[in-house]
Amino acid sequence: MKFPIEQVWVDDEVRDEPLTREILRKLPAARILGKNEIEDQCRAMEMDRDPFNRGKRTLRLTKNKGAFVKPCPGTPEYICCGLEILNIGQGCPMDCRYCALQVYFNRPILEVFVNTGDLFSDLERHLINDPRGVHRICTGEFTDSLALDPLTGLAGKLAEFFSRSTNASLEIKTKTDFVDPLLEVDPHGRVVIAFSVNSREITRKDEIRAAPVAKRLAAAARAEKRGYRIAFHFDPIIPVPGWEEAYSSVINEIFTTVDPSSISWISMGVLRFVPALKEIAAARFGRIPYFHDGFIRGLDGKSRLHVDRRINIYKYMIDKIRRRAREARIYLCMESPHVWRECLGISMDSDDDLTSYLDSAILPYTYGL
Ligand code: SF4
Repeated sequence: MKFPIEQVWVDDEVRDEPLTREILRKLPAARILGKNEIEDQCRAMEMDRDPFNRGKRTLRLTKNKGAFVKPCPGTPEYICCGLEILNIGQGCPMDCRYCALQVYFNRPILEVFVNTGDLFSDLERHLINDPRGVHRICTGEFTDSLALDPLTGLAGKLAEFFSRSTNASLEIKTKTDFVDPLLEVDPHGRVVIAFSVNSREITRKDEIRAAPVAKRLAAAARAEKRGYRIAFHFDPIIPVPGWEEAYSSVINEIFTTVDPSSISWISMGVLRFVPALKEIAAARFGRIPYFHDGFIRGLDGKSRLHVDRRINIYKYMIDKIRRRAREARIYLCMESPHVWRECLGISMDSDDDLTSYLDSAILPYTYGL
């Protein structure tokens, strides 16, 4: 296991789950804690000056008692893409300085939902009962899709499930290069492995414990060869001095590594954050200059750069991408119809518009077969 796990908290009700036993077998050196000790640890964590450091080495095996599939929590003020989230757990052993999860979880441990029997039956029910044409489902909203996969082995099982599905695709979103177990599965084009990428400088300084860009791209090449669809997310784009050359170089590297025809979509989002993140990150890492750029309050209450500046950044990136891949399906994350029109010349006036735009990338691999 690349990420060290020192403690495993096991909820009573999942002691006998097969995945619990499997994970504990893979972590022989970790301290296994039951109910009483967990309560003591929770109290200790509340007193800790940086609970994140401790939390990222603490794994809780627990049961998801709610629905496993949920709509992505978008925001009514901007255009959303109709993605659905398959909730496999929460928290992340990597430690990006800009990570929004730092604000959302007050007990920042890693959690894996080990009741995977319920997960697959919920997923099956959802795909049968929901009348929507095709489903784009992603596992990486509150966690990284692959960071804990060496322990859970879940991604390969999900890829198998989706490889047989005729009305859904799975997006596996990661900053790791842990794709090798997936190479045992033929995805039939229904699984997209999406790599979040950033400039080399941001990756090195800000994406602590994440795989270097070169390793993510090498993993993308291996996955492409096996028939996986590939996606890239430039999110957050952080316009520090020299950002133009830095992002251009990553864009060029992408297209020398992966064939444009294998790429389902490329998303972009300029750094935005709930205001509390700035203070939390400063307390953990010291002052981070890019959080003090000219941010203003956006319609969704998040701090955003002025719209004209965002448009210029997107235009620059889009131009660089189009030079290498004219037809690339590029989308903007949480932007307004105005920004869409200015940057891409597309009328994207509603969530439905964006949903169809992205669904068209997976249709040939679902109903088309
Ligand atoms: S990889 Fe994603 S989830 Fe993990 S710390 Fe970085 S931004 Fe957060």
